[in-house]
Amino acid sequence: MTEPKPAPLNPTKLIQAGRPEGGDGLPVNPPVVRASTFSFRSMEAFNTTAATPFDAPFYGRVGTPTSFAFESAMAELEGAHRAIAYPSGLAAIMAVYLAYLSAGDHVLMVDSVYGPARRSMVRTMAQMGVSVDFYDPSIGAGIEALIGPETRLIYMETPGSGTFEVMDVPAIATIARKHGIVTAIDNTWATPHYFRPLEHGVDVSIHAATKYITGHSDAMLGVVAVSEAAHDALRRATQDLGMVAGSEEVNLGLRGLHTLDVRLARHDVNGRALAAWLETRPETGRILHPAHPDCTGHEIWKRDFAGASGLFAVELPGWDEARINAFLRGMECFRIGFSWGGYESLALPAHPESREHPKWKGGPVLRFHAGLEDPADLIADLDRAFARAAAEA
Ligand SMILES: *Cc1c(COP(=O)(O)O)cnc(C)c1O
Repeated sequence: MTEPKPAPLNPTKLIQAGRPEGGDGLPVNPPVVRASTFSFRSMEAFNTTAATPFDAPFYGRVGTPTSFAFESAMAELEGAHRAIAYPSGLAAIMAVYLAYLSAGDHVLMVDSVYGPARRSMVRTMAQMGVSVDFYDPSIGAGIEALIGPETRLIYMETPGSGTFEVMDVPAIATIARKHGIVTAIDNTWATPHYFRPLEHGVDVSIHAATKYITGHSDAMLGVVAVSEAAHDALRRATQDLGMVAGSEEVNLGLRGLHTLDVRLARHDVNGRALAAWLETRPETGRILHPAHPDCTGHEIWKRDFAGASGLFAVELPGWDEARINAFLRGMECFRIGFSWGGYESLALPAHPESREHPKWKGGPVLRFHAGLEDPADLIADLDRAFARAAAEA
């Protein structure tokens, strides 16, 4: 395990992002504004606001002071022109597809992409006449050979879902720029605290804010941060889709940003502690944690990332389903569930078996989310799980 080079965001920036101007007797946080209609007293005032409806309250679907605060905080932290909130991470992904793709267009999508993002692409987007090819997460500048005359979007996710391959984002962004192709990336794992894709030439950075940004497993929220050149198309698609994140949810997203530094630092420590302990176990194969040399792209992670979040996986060579189920049955700290990024630890089998680029040759994979518990308790929980699994074998 090696320390990464780039620095995380300054925590002062996380504290101040989206904060209202100070004043005597005002709340620290922007109020949660629940509104459909914002009303005006003259057509002049109405028309003035109508000219810039994304900058001041105009209509609830376009934004409220609460969503503007969250969006401006995210844009600032990502080093983006603007950010737009969505009712879920997947809704954010779908808005990105619809913003930059039309019938006849071709997409290059990383094979280790989040499963539902793949499904929406091969189902709904295919139905609309968009074609896709999947590529190896280690492809780097080799992506150039896959670009065709209709390629309009290169979609990345780093590290990859379930298997944690770290991609050479700057290399791919450089090739895409040369060909005038839009690049989008799912940056949920790192958050802007540990990786800022726009600084590496990417146009569109997508987050399931449901995960670390909200951080308490109690809201569904997505957000997309975009460069100036990519903004108008995303805004139009968002308007046409009519998707809007709820006021309570954007408020929870904004609240989460202020504590991201301390939470992620603890997730990072706990994740590495678990990975290091799991490595000592005879049952485990490769440790699929970006801060571990076993992980594909580990050197790139060291170069580009300011830290690791708490989500990683291990290979369990030769394990069958019964043994994995015995391992996961009745754990004390870890629960079985999807949405990582909360304060609690989770475990879930991952399924890379269908991957073609490259063909998955490893053993079964168990994904862990290291929560904020005492790592000694988490390790004791895993120790008991190995004993249960051994009794089952
Ligand atoms: C969870 C997740 C999403 C989708 O987010 P939802 O809020 O659940 O729709 C997208 N990308 C990644 C990498 C995720 O883990």
